[in-house]
Amino acid sequence: MDAEAIVKELRGTYGTGKTKSYEWRVSQLKALFKIAENHEKEITDALYSDLSKPELEAFIHEISMMKTACKLALKELKRWMKPEKVKTSLTSFPSSAEIVPEPLGVVLVISAWNYPFLLSLDPVIGAIAAGNAVVLKPSEIAPATSSVLAKLLGQYMDVSAIRVVEGAVPETTALLEQKWDKIFYTGNGKVGRIVLAAAAKHLTPVVLELGGKSPVVVDSNIDYKIAVRRIIAGKWGCNNGQACISPDYIITTKENVPKLLDAMKQELEKFYGKDPLKSGDLSRIVNANHFQRLSKLLDDNKVVDKVVHGGQRDENNLKISPTILLDVPEDSLIMKEEIFGPLLPIITVNKVEDSIQFINAREKPLAAYLFTSNKKLEEEFVMNISAGGLLINDTTLQVALSTLPFGGVGESGMGSCHGKFSFDSFSHKKAVLRRSFAGDVPARYPPYTTGKARF
Ligand code: NAD
Repeated sequence: MDAEAIVKELRGTYGTGKTKSYEWRVSQLKALFKIAENHEKEITDALYSDLSKPELEAFIHEISMMKTACKLALKELKRWMKPEKVKTSLTSFPSSAEIVPEPLGVVLVISAWNYPFLLSLDPVIGAIAAGNAVVLKPSEIAPATSSVLAKLLGQYMDVSAIRVVEGAVPETTALLEQKWDKIFYTGNGKVGRIVLAAAAKHLTPVVLELGGKSPVVVDSNIDYKIAVRRIIAGKWGCNNGQACISPDYIITTKENVPKLLDAMKQELEKFYGKDPLKSGDLSRIVNANHFQRLSKLLDDNKVVDKVVHGGQRDENNLKISPTILLDVPEDSLIMKEEIFGPLLPIITVNKVEDSIQFINAREKPLAAYLFTSNKKLEEEFVMNISAGGLLINDTTLQVALSTLPFGGVGESGMGSCHGKFSFDSFSHKKAVLRRSFAGDVPARYPPYTTGKARF
């Protein structure tokens, strides 16, 4: 792979103006849609090979969401591309003004392994819709999906402007040495810092879609069964907790714990049976490194006696059962780093209102969830919690709304994506002011005599 040559070629294509036309953008979005439509089985097989992702989960969370994003871009593209007329002022009278969205140029998308199909193509949809040439670098940790993406995009897309570069750190490093017009990175904050530093050399703007510890606050006046089902769906039902907006830990009061735990145990058994390690409805841990990482969190001396449900591991098959821990110390490993797996600690506080302070004392998460019927608490939560996104009385569903920006704040990232937000992330909003030769005000020009000073 010659990163420099690829960028040069794509820059050449971009320079012809080809990618800017509405027709080209539509043709490429349609081609992407066809990939998902014609190769569903190949894609779900790849996702199974990489993560043993259940077929229905793979379809709903990756293929279907990608198709929806494609359809939305095709439907809205004309509107998104249209210059927006804005008001003018007396200073420029007579004039007209507009904001013209223009593509940035040649952009780089670096993607992560946990939703390797969706997280690769969702930003590519935004980049194409906005009229850019794009290089996609899928994650090497999901090699089957990376290879399917390389093959299918090579077959279906205009390769003079859209390229897939497979590889790991050396390939990504070589790509990051090039000058890009935008870098869209999804992954952890440590690598996010590497991306940001590389981008700084060329003054390249970046979107960083990172993660964090997304809390779930559980109040007492709620329908426990529904709340628990929704927590399970967002945790273990999302790639067995290997999702950036999965609940990372629960905060509740001591009095709530017995009811909450009972409901969780009951529903977990209904969903995944008595031996969840054998369930076909749970993804496995992606690889041995991540299995070891999660095992380390569980084997930490500070939490070994805190497991109140689950805890089974099968190293050969990289499976960990849904595991709940109660009252883990704040300085335990599991409370210090993003879990990104099937472990769910419960923290107890004296009053549910104290959870706001608990969350605010930590880095800003990508998501924060609250289950309550108390409108006052809900309002306090919305006004006082800073997170990428908030969701009341459910988990993870915010990701499904293209009308909401998806992105982090602080340690959970910068910039946003989905729908028009993706289009905007890959566009420059160009200010255009148009004047005629009428309305030339002499006071604007020297000499600045007293009579001219104020008009
Ligand atoms: P990963 O290991 O797949 O890494 C992401 C990308 O970074 C890969 O393409 C990889 O090749 C590249 N990379 C890794 N090391 C690098 C280096 N030293 N230099 C240059 N490039 C390098 O994914 P990950 O980081 O394990 O992903 C999990 C993290 O991503 C979690 O923190 C999760 O919360 C976050 N995430 C965020 C979102 C979001 O949309 N905000 C989505 C998914 C995951």
